[in-house]
Amino acid sequence: MEKPKRKMAASSGGRARRRRSAYAAAEVEEMFRRFAVQRPEPKGELEHVNPFTLLVAVVLSAQATDAGVNKATRALFAAADTPEKMLALGEERVADYIRTIGLWRNKAKNVIALCRALIEEHGSAVPAERDLLTRLPGVGRKTANVVLNVAFGQPTMAVDTHIFRIGNRILLAPGRTPEEVEEGLLRVIPEHYLRHAHHWLILHGRYVCKARKPDCHACVIADICRSPEKTTDVPAPAVPIAPLDPAAVDAAQ
Ligand code: SF4
Repeated sequence: MEKPKRKMAASSGGRARRRRSAYAAAEVEEMFRRFAVQRPEPKGELEHVNPFTLLVAVVLSAQATDAGVNKATRALFAAADTPEKMLALGEERVADYIRTIGLWRNKAKNVIALCRALIEEHGSAVPAERDLLTRLPGVGRKTANVVLNVAFGQPTMAVDTHIFRIGNRILLAPGRTPEEVEEGLLRVIPEHYLRHAHHWLILHGRYVCKARKPDCHACVIADICRSPEKTTDVPAPAVPIAPLDPAAVDAAQ
């Protein structure tokens, strides 16, 4: 999973001042209702077979693409899908499996240290608490949020490069740092959509609201969006809009 670029935040101006979402609550509700119609069961793209392999995959995905990580982990996880098996493989063999991923030397070292910590401190289980996760080698807040959301169903918001861009670009939750965007999104997204919101936003950013040029004519929220970068001539409403007919949303796909 790619990391958000912090320099983007600096250009959004202002000091530690909290910036507001450009949307009324009814508009955010409608945005996420449409994402839910579009992808009722959104899934992450990192392949894994249990919480442990998910944790390893997310650690490996720092500054790498999910597709690149999957290529390497298919064979790695077939050989080792528990902390004990991974530790038994050893750093050199883990490194051999992940040699195609950036920063592989450090990552192999971290994976082995991670396995040792899981075995010694958590009975080989992946903990379901952020504080415990972030104390593990190579595990930061974003990684912990992905694991808590995907493996344990918690309504966390892991801000990657796509979510950071969307939060700022469409002014849904503007912020100078991933933490500010995370906090803003957790505040504005209705609770009943939080479980899947992280995946909806990543997939929206990866396939529609893309970094170089947003694909606004294919966007299901184009009529709500207030981004200055919007490339369609559909104006955003000045007042909260009425919900769309779900059939109309389907037809727009
Ligand atoms: S209308 Fe364009 S800028 Fe707005 S969310 Fe959709 S793709 Fe992104």
